[in-house]
Amino acid sequence: MEWIDTHAHLYAEDFNGNIGELLQRAREASVSRIISVGVNGRTNPQCIRFAEEHEEIFAAVGWQPTDLDELGDEMELSPVRLKELHEQACHPKVVAIGEIGLDYFRLPRTQTDEVLRTKERQKRIFRQQLELAAELGLPCAIHQRGDGTLEDCLEIMRPLAGRIRAVFHCFVGDLQAAQAFFDLGCLVSLTGIVTFKKAEELRETIRSLPPEKIMVETDCPYLAPEPHFRKLCEPSYVVHTGKRIAGILGLSPEEFSQITSRTTRDFFPKMK
Ligand SMILES: [Zn+2]
Repeated sequence: MEWIDTHAHLYAEDFNGNIGELLQRAREASVSRIISVGVNGRTNPQCIRFAEEHEEIFAAVGWQPTDLDELGDEMELSPVRLKELHEQACHPKVVAIGEIGLDYFRLPRTQTDEVLRTKERQKRIFRQQLELAAELGLPCAIHQRGDGTLEDCLEIMRPLAGRIRAVFHCFVGDLQAAQAFFDLGCLVSLTGIVTFKKAEELRETIRSLPPEKIMVETDCPYLAPEPHFRKLCEPSYVVHTGKRIAGILGLSPEEFSQITSRTTRDFFPKMK
């Protein structure tokens, strides 16, 4: 059996830059590949370094909507930043642009000038990175969180449909949202949340999803699945998430592991 953790933040301080043991446990758990996902100018090169140092690690590079502090007052990625991202994305082990997207979760509900400006900035930077992904023919990992982000993501992505392939990472939406993503040719990726006691609604949604449109991830160090709830999450735990999804879909772990590994390899062609 093989599992692939499609979304891990291995640079997280909790891991102390010491990922050797964590990789050993992942190997023992049949996790064959891990995609180390960056979120800004500081973490993108770290993810590439991990990929260079370890055969089973691949990288994704991008600017995440809540990690834009390094940009100061800039409303979008400067030509220099874009060129840097472009160069990073051409690295043989960088398999995707991500994570990128929209996050209004912590924004105040009132549409002050500041809120509107923040949204506009996120949208511009998201669009810039989608364009880059389209240009390079790379898939994208999308972060979408907070009221209004589903509609805004779809609006920005629609004109690019056919030119981009994307996965909505950490999917917790309803069937309608999943269908909207599938209509755009996108996939969804599921985290340990599917094992949480209070996620009954999400499990109900998953029952209706086509197994071949689902990838699995840890989003570690966050969201550790049962039986490690609230502990520090790591790539080996993706197995618990995968097995739980198999059960929800009425498949054996072997069947689902095979389907989702094939989906993942097709989606990230640079991942050997
Ligand atoms: Zn993430």
